[in-house]
Amino acid sequence: MFEKRLQELTARHLNRRLTPLHSGIGPVVEMAGRPTLLLASNDYLGLAMHPEVIQSAVEATQQFGAGAGAARLVSGSLPPHQELESVLAQFKKTESALTFSSGYLANIGTIPALIGRGGLILADRLCHASLIDGCRLSAADFRVYRHNDTGHLQSLLAARREKRQTLIVTDGLFSMDGDLAPLPELSRLAQEYEADLYVDDAHGTGVMGPHGRGTAEHFGIESQIPFQMGTLGKALGSSGAYIAGSSTLIHYMINTSRSFIFTTAPPPSSAAAATAAIRIIQREPERRARLWANRERLFSGLTRMGFNLSPSVSPIMPILVGNAELALSFAERLLIEGVYAPAIRPPTVQDATSRIRVTVTSEHTLSHINQALTAFQRAGQSSGLI
Ligand SMILES: *Cc1c(COP(=O)(O)O)cnc(C)c1O
Repeated sequence: MFEKRLQELTARHLNRRLTPLHSGIGPVVEMAGRPTLLLASNDYLGLAMHPEVIQSAVEATQQFGAGAGAARLVSGSLPPHQELESVLAQFKKTESALTFSSGYLANIGTIPALIGRGGLILADRLCHASLIDGCRLSAADFRVYRHNDTGHLQSLLAARREKRQTLIVTDGLFSMDGDLAPLPELSRLAQEYEADLYVDDAHGTGVMGPHGRGTAEHFGIESQIPFQMGTLGKALGSSGAYIAGSSTLIHYMINTSRSFIFTTAPPPSSAAAATAAIRIIQREPERRARLWANRERLFSGLTRMGFNLSPSVSPIMPILVGNAELALSFAERLLIEGVYAPAIRPPTVQDATSRIRVTVTSEHTLSHINQALTAFQRAGQSSGLI
């Protein structure tokens, strides 16, 4: 059965394989036997390889062990987790925060805990798969609204039974498009219709806002979003995720979120690494400045060459290609030119919107950016995309 399904995927150019790396994550990696410019990671600030982040992980491992031993409600809550949560709450300016082993787990545990039978979830059509899975796991009714279409959302809010419990769910910064959710308008609609707003800021955390506190800071509406989720595995260079909000919310999550209760706590090392990363983000705004300067250079260069870029406003800059086969062959040509940027195909994105997802980090140098532009020009011309 599954063999046949796999053959079908291959025939439709949707088969996927792992690409082995022979080095850690950085602006340049060892891939296919040679140094390759990596324009694919979400380690936007280069913190996964930062000596201080690594040192914190090593020390936490030595002091508290390689693993947490059990779920936190079972064997106790270790100091690195306690410290991370208090640093996160300060960073996010919320009363409290709770960490999860991954963003996927945070979303599938939190959403069903927040809303169930009788409720209504309204989610952006381009929400991350983990949000969609969280919505499906909830016993509430689940509808999607057209991407960033607040008019559509408003019509769904207006059409529902009065006073029905409603949760609006969105990414802050969309992971495969690089655009932002209209958070001020979503928050206004939530207030007007007495709905709650859940924002997944996996890609905005550390990247958006004057202090890197995320997309809500970017829009100046941090205090208006009751349920803020973010991850530790992207700009924070570690792994895991958090929910930030009121103390009551966090206490409620500890009691009801199944993906928190029934899973082993993250290793002490990843909690300590994330704490160190948040301190660096607060201390070194120049990392964000370098990231944005690189983003501008690469984005304007690609635009000038004539690529069809999605309306990105972030370090995620997808080049829209359309069909999956062409996206794959373009990615292969890029690799020949020494650049790795992945072809993103259905089901990650909708049919006929396959793309090359280009991301840049603070650690790319001017010469890396120029090298990337040359590679894109050559590969784009030989693929007939420009
Ligand atoms: C990456 C991502 C997640 C999942 O986070 P992990 O920690 O990698 O499991 C959730 N939501 C969004 C929007 C993401 O981009």
